[in-house]
Amino acid sequence: MKTGSVTVGIPRGLIFYDHGRYWESFFKRLGIKTIVSQKTNSFILNDGVVCCTNETCLPVKVFHGHILSLTDVADYIFVPRYLSVSGRELCCPKLCGLADMIKYNIEKQVKTIEININTRHLKKDTCQSIRQAAETLGINYHKMLSVFKDTIVQNVSFGAPYHANHVSGNTGRPIVVLGHSYMIYDEYLSMGLIQKLKNKGFSVFTPANLNGYIKKMNAEPFVDKFFFNTGLENLGAAFTYMNLSGISGVIYLSPFACGVDSLTLEFIERKLFKKGIPFLKLTVDEHTGEAGFDTRLEAFLDMIV
Ligand code: SF4
Repeated sequence: MKTGSVTVGIPRGLIFYDHGRYWESFFKRLGIKTIVSQKTNSFILNDGVVCCTNETCLPVKVFHGHILSLTDVADYIFVPRYLSVSGRELCCPKLCGLADMIKYNIEKQVKTIEININTRHLKKDTCQSIRQAAETLGINYHKMLSVFKDTIVQNVSFGAPYHANHVSGNTGRPIVVLGHSYMIYDEYLSMGLIQKLKNKGFSVFTPANLNGYIKKMNAEPFVDKFFFNTGLENLGAAFTYMNLSGISGVIYLSPFACGVDSLTLEFIERKLFKKGIPFLKLTVDEHTGEAGFDTRLEAFLDMIV
């Protein structure tokens, strides 16, 4: 197979919001064409919902919808297997098993390219998955491994220096928006939360505005604990922002059925309460209506201004 003749689809969901640009660059440097799925919309959401069980968290359902939207336009679909990006920690089990869920949930045959990201066993798991991907795409294994080291390894580990390119133009009263990147930066799932706050004159700060090392330092005592990888970003950001002066309030946007959030939210809420910082938890699922969402948001904003 000629590398120029194959197209890899990249679903615009989950970890795409953190590392999508690195994966696009990875495939580009290997001479592989990529196509990123459209922004989330009602069709993508509905398609994802119907092929998952009710208990699946919202972002994983949406990810399935993104995959389905790519099946007719890409030869292969890239599904990263994020197992661990830091020390001894593990990512959320749903990210670890994402590729397997897709195989079982989507009846239509989906040809996937899976690459493991596992800082705990970098040589073994990762190299095996890269060898497999290289064979499938007809690329020299050593070339793919070298490009992987250059574009991915340094950039995806937790605590890597972050380029805060998600939020800009902060000039009003500071407010913090927490949540997984694939919730708060997905305009459809977040119902445009960040823009709504900006329109009300707030300066919006998110985990992306903080240096990764600072978040990691402040996420103690949860650093190096199993299954906290996916929650550290928010724990570290919350524990950092709550010690800065002038924060008007904190909003946490959580998807329905997120096991990680059920723990991290509890720790964050208790600490914010002790500090006397106003806190709003917004949980959304596929049935959430924008009117109810806006009412809760406006009531909170009325309270803090
Ligand atoms: S961290 Fe939560 S939202 Fe993200 S994949 Fe895991 S369960 Fe789903």
